[in-house]
Amino acid sequence: MLPKFHFLHGLLISLILFPLFKGHILIFLAATVLIDFDHYLIYAVKKKDLSLENAYIFLKKLEEKQKNPGFKGRYTFFLCVFHTFEFLLILSIFAFFNKFLFFIFLGFIFHLSLDIISTKWEFKNKYFFYYLKTLFLAYHLLSRDKETFGKIKVKL
Ligand SMILES: [Zn+2]
Repeated sequence: MLPKFHFLHGLLISLILFPLFKGHILIFLAATVLIDFDHYLIYAVKKKDLSLENAYIFLKKLEEKQKNPGFKGRYTFFLCVFHTFEFLLILSIFAFFNKFLFFIFLGFIFHLSLDIISTKWEFKNKYFFYYLKTLFLAYHLLSRDKETFGKIKVKL
Protein backbone atom coordinates (compact mmCIF):
# COMPACT_ATOMS: atom_id res chain seq x y z
CA MET A 1 0.00 0.00 0.00
CA LEU A 2 1.35 3.41 -0.94
CA PRO A 3 2.33 5.96 1.78
CA LYS A 4 -0.43 8.40 0.78
CA PHE A 5 -3.10 5.73 1.39
CA HIS A 6 -1.55 4.89 4.75
CA PHE A 7 -1.64 8.57 5.63
CA LEU A 8 -5.31 8.94 4.62
CA HIS A 9 -6.40 5.87 6.59
CA GLY A 10 -4.29 6.98 9.56
CA LEU A 11 -5.79 10.46 9.40
CA LEU A 12 -9.32 9.07 9.43
CA ILE A 13 -8.65 6.91 12.50
CA SER A 14 -6.79 9.81 14.16
CA LEU A 15 -9.79 12.10 13.77
CA ILE A 16 -12.06 9.46 15.29
CA LEU A 17 -9.69 8.80 18.22
CA PHE A 18 -8.69 12.44 18.80
CA PRO A 19 -11.24 13.06 21.62
CA LEU A 20 -9.78 10.08 23.47
CA PHE A 21 -6.03 10.65 23.04
CA LYS A 22 -5.76 14.38 22.16
CA GLY A 23 -2.29 15.48 20.95
CA HIS A 24 -0.78 12.01 21.38
CA ILE A 25 -2.70 10.88 18.32
CA LEU A 26 -0.18 12.83 16.19
CA ILE A 27 2.51 10.32 17.23
CA PHE A 28 0.21 7.53 16.03
CA LEU A 29 -0.41 9.32 12.73
CA ALA A 30 3.30 9.90 12.10
CA ALA A 31 4.10 6.28 12.94
CA THR A 32 1.52 4.94 10.45
CA VAL A 33 3.55 6.55 7.64
CA LEU A 34 7.13 6.59 8.96
CA ILE A 35 7.24 2.81 9.49
CA ASP A 36 7.88 2.54 5.74
CA PHE A 37 11.27 4.17 6.28
CA ASP A 38 12.63 0.63 6.66
CA HIS A 39 12.00 0.08 2.92
CA TYR A 40 14.29 3.00 2.18
CA LEU A 41 16.92 1.78 4.68
CA ILE A 42 17.25 -1.66 3.10
CA TYR A 43 17.38 -0.13 -0.38
CA ALA A 44 20.05 2.40 0.63
CA VAL A 45 22.20 -0.29 2.29
CA LYS A 46 21.96 -2.81 -0.53
CA LYS A 47 22.15 -0.53 -3.53
CA LYS A 48 24.52 1.93 -1.85
CA ASP A 49 22.23 4.64 -3.16
CA LEU A 50 20.80 7.32 -0.85
CA SER A 51 18.22 8.63 -3.33
CA LEU A 52 14.75 8.44 -1.83
CA GLU A 53 13.21 8.79 -5.28
CA ASN A 54 15.23 5.88 -6.73
CA ALA A 55 14.28 3.72 -3.75
CA TYR A 56 10.60 4.50 -4.24
CA ILE A 57 10.69 3.73 -7.98
CA PHE A 58 12.71 0.53 -7.55
CA LEU A 59 10.53 -0.93 -4.79
CA LYS A 60 7.28 0.06 -6.50
CA LYS A 61 8.36 -1.61 -9.74
CA LEU A 62 9.46 -4.76 -7.91
CA GLU A 63 6.14 -5.01 -6.07
CA GLU A 64 4.05 -4.43 -9.20
CA LYS A 65 6.03 -7.03 -11.13
CA GLN A 66 5.63 -9.69 -8.42
CA LYS A 67 1.98 -8.97 -7.77
CA ASN A 68 1.11 -9.66 -11.41
CA PRO A 69 -0.84 -12.97 -11.49
CA GLY A 70 1.19 -13.97 -14.56
CA PHE A 71 4.50 -13.59 -12.73
CA LYS A 72 6.60 -16.73 -13.16
CA GLY A 73 9.97 -15.98 -11.53
CA ARG A 74 11.14 -16.31 -7.93
CA TYR A 75 9.75 -13.84 -5.43
CA THR A 76 12.16 -11.44 -3.79
CA PHE A 77 11.26 -9.77 -0.52
CA PHE A 78 13.75 -7.65 1.32
CA LEU A 79 13.98 -7.45 5.06
CA CYS A 80 11.90 -4.49 6.23
CA VAL A 81 12.67 -4.72 9.90
CA PHE A 82 9.84 -2.56 11.30
CA HIS A 83 7.38 -4.75 9.38
CA THR A 84 8.36 -7.94 11.23
CA PHE A 85 6.40 -9.65 14.00
CA GLU A 86 9.54 -10.12 16.12
CA PHE A 87 10.31 -6.40 16.05
CA LEU A 88 6.72 -5.55 16.95
CA LEU A 89 6.78 -8.04 19.82
CA ILE A 90 9.86 -6.37 21.32
CA LEU A 91 8.37 -2.92 20.72
CA SER A 92 5.16 -3.99 22.49
CA ILE A 93 7.16 -4.72 25.66
CA PHE A 94 8.73 -1.24 25.66
CA ALA A 95 5.38 0.30 24.71
CA PHE A 96 3.95 -1.08 27.92
CA PHE A 97 6.17 1.27 29.93
CA ASN A 98 6.37 4.33 27.68
CA LYS A 99 3.48 6.41 26.33
CA PHE A 100 5.41 7.70 23.28
CA LEU A 101 6.38 4.15 22.25
CA PHE A 102 2.83 3.01 22.93
CA PHE A 103 1.46 5.32 20.23
CA ILE A 104 4.26 4.37 17.83
CA PHE A 105 3.39 0.73 18.45
CA LEU A 106 -0.31 1.39 17.72
CA GLY A 107 0.64 3.20 14.49
CA PHE A 108 2.88 0.35 13.37
CA ILE A 109 0.24 -2.30 14.13
CA PHE A 110 -2.40 -0.29 12.27
CA HIS A 111 -0.07 0.11 9.26
CA LEU A 112 0.89 -3.57 9.11
CA SER A 113 -2.76 -4.64 9.42
CA LEU A 114 -3.61 -2.44 6.43
CA ASP A 115 -0.67 -3.90 4.46
CA ILE A 116 -1.82 -7.47 5.16
CA ILE A 117 -5.51 -6.79 4.44
CA SER A 118 -4.83 -4.88 1.23
CA THR A 119 -2.41 -7.55 -0.05
CA LYS A 120 -4.95 -10.31 0.65
CA TRP A 121 -7.75 -8.25 -0.86
CA GLU A 122 -5.97 -7.37 -4.10
CA PHE A 123 -4.04 -10.53 -4.86
CA LYS A 124 -5.31 -14.05 -4.79
CA ASN A 125 -2.22 -15.73 -6.22
CA LYS A 126 0.51 -17.33 -4.14
CA TYR A 127 2.17 -13.92 -3.72
CA PHE A 128 0.19 -13.43 -0.51
CA PHE A 129 1.62 -16.53 1.19
CA TYR A 130 5.19 -15.61 0.30
CA TYR A 131 4.46 -12.14 1.58
CA LEU A 132 3.23 -13.45 4.96
CA LYS A 133 6.41 -15.48 5.47
CA THR A 134 8.54 -12.41 4.96
CA LEU A 135 6.87 -10.66 7.89
CA PHE A 136 8.97 -12.88 10.17
CA LEU A 137 12.48 -11.68 10.95
CA ALA A 138 13.43 -15.35 11.35
CA TYR A 139 12.57 -15.97 7.69
CA HIS A 140 15.22 -13.47 6.60
CA LEU A 141 17.84 -14.54 9.14
CA LEU A 142 17.47 -18.26 8.44
CA SER A 143 16.95 -17.99 4.70
CA ARG A 144 19.84 -19.13 2.57
CA ASP A 145 18.41 -16.92 -0.12
CA LYS A 146 20.77 -13.98 0.17
CA GLU A 147 18.60 -12.00 -2.21
CA THR A 148 16.42 -11.08 0.74
CA PHE A 149 19.24 -10.04 3.02
CA GLY A 150 22.41 -9.64 1.07
CA LYS A 151 23.08 -8.15 -2.31
CA ILE A 152 20.38 -7.12 -4.75
CA LYS A 153 20.48 -9.28 -7.85
CA VAL A 154 17.07 -8.30 -9.18
CA LYS A 155 16.80 -6.99 -12.72
CA LEU A 156 13.73 -4.91 -13.45
ZN1 LIG B 1 4.18 -1.06 4.84
